[in-house]
Amino acid sequence: MLDNLTQRLAKVVKTMRGEARLTEANTAEMLREVRMALLEADVALPAVREFIAKVKEKAMGEEVISSLTPGQALVGVVQREMAALMGADLGPEATQLSFAQQPPAIILMAGLQGVGKTTTVGKLAKYLKEEKKKKVLTVSADVYRPAAIAQLKTVSGQAGADFFPSTPQDKPVDIALAALDWAKKHYHDVLIVDTAGRLGIDEEMMKEIAAVHGAIKPIETLFVVDAMLGQDAINTAKAFNDALPLTGIVLTKLDGDSRGGAALSVRHVTGKPIKFAGVSEKLDGLEAFDPARMANRVLG
Ligand code: GDP
Repeated sequence: MLDNLTQRLAKVVKTMRGEARLTEANTAEMLREVRMALLEADVALPAVREFIAKVKEKAMGEEVISSLTPGQALVGVVQREMAALMGADLGPEATQLSFAQQPPAIILMAGLQGVGKTTTVGKLAKYLKEEKKKKVLTVSADVYRPAAIAQLKTVSGQAGADFFPSTPQDKPVDIALAALDWAKKHYHDVLIVDTAGRLGIDEEMMKEIAAVHGAIKPIETLFVVDAMLGQDAINTAKAFNDALPLTGIVLTKLDGDSRGGAALSVRHVTGKPIKFAGVSEKLDGLEAFDPARMANRVLG
């Protein structure tokens, strides 16, 4: 990361050589470049502002270690703060899923249509089965798109998870409760509940998923967001964060060519850990989220 950032900031770093302290003037010049990098990565403006303010506060007056130029010291502050904002300070356990003391552990999936929710259910089911040796049941509470229910059945089969059938005639809350009942009776360790997504933020949808949440009280409520959304991610994240007590984020489509500015925006709005990253369409395309790597990518 230092290399990339230094490349972009080389000019400024050069002018700072010989100065023993980070001053307001040389810091400001450097921060302008960082700001540009973040806007190019499509980070939402409020998140950019928060980051710049944090770096400024940390950088001002900071003693420069004798072997470093002030420029490099500031780059260090930028790196550390970005990784921290991405969740590095939360520790590696922040990316772990919680399991209920009394199985089944319920995972509720939330997010807009097309972001990769159903695919992520399949990926999680496979991960839980193969890596954590859990017996997994999946269910779709998407009563608007029969194709979504069929898609979940397919990916669940591929993942080796059990699938609880539902029909568009059922109510989402009833579906979720029936699946929970089945999971208890058949000793499943984990129940993953997929939900309907709309193309945009929709009050009815929020009420519906909040009702499902209230009925089954999941231990994990994961907000799935598409990295390609860029700064639009901030509004979606806010709406879901207001409607539901989220426990974590899944950032999908990181294999795309976006710089992943959505990660910073979503962290800014929710404060919740990004637990997983989706890195392909395939069911093995799920990784534990790596804050330092993401910081690198966003800073460019
Ligand atoms: P849903 O409407 O939120 O349930 O979204 P889907 O799971 O149906 O996914 C929508 C599209 O995104 C599908 O074509 C998926 O294959 C694709 N997709 C999901 N996750 C990823 C990912 O991490 N990387 C890539 N490249 N595609 C993904």
